[in-house]
Amino acid sequence: METKRDYYEVLGVGRGASMDEIKAAYRKLALKYHPDRNPGDKSAEEKFKEAAEAYEVLRDPQKREIYDQFGHQGLEGSGFSGFSGFEDIFSSFGDIFEEFFGFGGHRRNRSRSNRGADLRYDLELDFMEAAKGVETQIEVEKQETCPVCSGSGCAPGTHPQTCRYCGGSGQVSRSQGFFTVRSTCPTCRGAGQTIPDPCEACRGSGKKRIQKKVTVKIPAGVDNGSRLRLTGEGEAGTHGGPPGDLYVFIHVRPHDFFHREDTNILCQVPISFVQAALGDTIPIPTLNGKKPLKIPKGTQPGDIFRLHGEGVPSLRNGRRGDLIVQVLVKTPTHLSKKQEALLKEFAKLESNKFSNKLKNIIKGNPLNA
Ligand SMILES: [Zn+2]
Ligand SMILES: [Zn+2]
Repeated sequence: METKRDYYEVLGVGRGASMDEIKAAYRKLALKYHPDRNPGDKSAEEKFKEAAEAYEVLRDPQKREIYDQFGHQGLEGSGFSGFSGFEDIFSSFGDIFEEFFGFGGHRRNRSRSNRGADLRYDLELDFMEAAKGVETQIEVEKQETCPVCSGSGCAPGTHPQTCRYCGGSGQVSRSQGFFTVRSTCPTCRGAGQTIPDPCEACRGSGKKRIQKKVTVKIPAGVDNGSRLRLTGEGEAGTHGGPPGDLYVFIHVRPHDFFHREDTNILCQVPISFVQAALGDTIPIPTLNGKKPLKIPKGTQPGDIFRLHGEGVPSLRNGRRGDLIVQVLVKTPTHLSKKQEALLKEFAKLESNKFSNKLKNIIKGNPLNA
């Protein structure tokens, strides 16, 4: 009996090699020594067989374990005797060869029907429409199943015929070395059938381009980049396949006053310095009309107030965010003589508080010394 090389050595991997490493190593060798690339080369043929045998064992966890423990003898004891020839290799590796080389092995399942393509529609909405939800109509250009032939592509009263070129299989075979290479039938393009008398309305395609009005219900809370899927509103399928879907991408136009941050709405409201100092209740525009906001005494510029639950509902759980109001304190610019006089009076009363602190800072003393 001839001595066999170690399988790990054959593939050039370590004993602890992962499945991926083994697969990659085998792929490399199989491509290198493939008989199609080395016609008539006996030593390449031997290397090819050797690699296939090593791979067959090492890719199977059970066989690998037996081999790791008992070596070649152990495998012979378990009924594995290697390959006798190429046919054997290919029948055992059909699916792998298809994966590696794109041909051979099992025949692919051929199906005439195909799902239609998905469509995209870009929809622009106002801030308010997005925040409150809206029902709108969009017009989509798409392919629909031809109503005259119901998608068969045949003129009324006629039927498709079995393709004579491929006998209805949709594939043609051709020999290349010891492989049989199958390719899509050029006559019927894989359909297995031809249409002798095409439908006039769709010229045999079974489809028709149409403009369709689609009603879209936009839920409250959609935002820039939200995507809605309308199932079955995409292109028609082929030969009875289901239609694709229509994806509506939302674009929200910015608002002059409101600004969105997730489910919260942000806005800035100007108030006078008198309102800031004395406090006031001011009306704030919200998604649902005006709501009063209480500004406390001594409000500072930039202070933030929340109107709870006046934001936008979450698309996930419906929970509403807040309306976040930032106040901007306005300094008056056109004072009347009387206002000016009053402010000067006010300043006299106010000055003592600030001036002591200020004097300390100017002198270079610490603030609270
Ligand atoms: Zn054909
Ligand atoms: Zn038609």
